[in-house]
Amino acid sequence: MRVVEARERSVPISRYADPGLLGGGLTTSVVAVVTDVLRERRPVVGYGFGSFGRFAQGGLIRERFAPRLLEADDEMLVSAADGGLDPFRAWDAMMAGEKPGGHGERCVAVGTLDMALWDAAAKIAGLPLYKLLAARLGRTAGAAPRVPVYACGGYRYPRDDWRRLAAEISRFAELGYTRAKIKVGGVAPAADCRRIETALRLLPGDGALAIDAMNSFGPDTALGAAEAFSTYPLWWFEDICDPLDFGTLASVASVYQRPIAAGEALFSAQEATLLDLHGGLRRDRDILVFDPVHCYGLRGYCQIVERLENAGWQRAAFWPHGGHLFCLHVVAALGLGGAEVNPLCFQPFGGLTGAEPLANGCAAPPDALGIGFEEKPELDRVFASLLE
Ligand code: MG
Repeated sequence: MRVVEARERSVPISRYADPGLLGGGLTTSVVAVVTDVLRERRPVVGYGFGSFGRFAQGGLIRERFAPRLLEADDEMLVSAADGGLDPFRAWDAMMAGEKPGGHGERCVAVGTLDMALWDAAAKIAGLPLYKLLAARLGRTAGAAPRVPVYACGGYRYPRDDWRRLAAEISRFAELGYTRAKIKVGGVAPAADCRRIETALRLLPGDGALAIDAMNSFGPDTALGAAEAFSTYPLWWFEDICDPLDFGTLASVASVYQRPIAAGEALFSAQEATLLDLHGGLRRDRDILVFDPVHCYGLRGYCQIVERLENAGWQRAAFWPHGGHLFCLHVVAALGLGGAEVNPLCFQPFGGLTGAEPLANGCAAPPDALGIGFEEKPELDRVFASLLE
């Protein structure tokens, strides 16, 4: 079994449902890995992309990680358990010669290819990803596990912010979401409070709204913001300050009583340990939002889950960043707390297939082979165009 070709391209993505609004030039990498395994006389192809928020990684993929994957022979890629493709072993091939530390954004490049390898592995096994992943990890997963989900979005609009925010939250509710997360920070606290109040009015009760400051508060502003937000019945307060400013995070955690979410911009098990040791997080309530793609793919993400579980965290505390189908499978397979979903922004990558209705704020991963990206017609076209 070999990967015979890896194709890659950078594509623009927008934080808004209306792609005409400026998205800050954000991009992501899309990749296709072509295997020498035939299914219905056609090579099995796995698709992946770089999740959201860290820009495309074409240079690293083309120069280092895809060539190593193409050089890997049968022995390096075959699963000892079932003879299928083993992305954990492929990970070793991709990371050959890389030194520890200095994660930079190579973790995103590796995670992008890792997603495509898992898609291909599940297609070769004839399974949806969550079933293959659960089996490879020795976990049992039900036929159609229901995963708690919430709708993410609520980026600040360049014009007419409160009205458009209200329309976005109303749309989430129409789609069946009972919980949502919006962005705060970067403006005066009063403007943030008005956003929070706008969203709270449209959501059902206590703990239905989380806020995400996208690391925008500093040592001088974080405590004031936490105090202003403490008057609202928020689900959690996420990405408060710089990802490595554990001192500021710990000072907020010492006074802010409701849950805090952290970890989205930390990419390794070592960084996760530092967050746990020095970030002041409380294992009885706080939330961990490491992104499985940005953490070197599933090899790195599983290491983080295991390490923090051994340190006393519950799996229910993990709500991975991402908001796309891949993360839904990961949450289902690993038995984590729940999944973010981007139903409107970051299209066509964000959100679920739309075929499965939400019930009681929960969703099930699709039963298509692999991740199921082909069930999203617009996304299917993007990936298929890589092979033209
Ligand atoms: Mg965040």
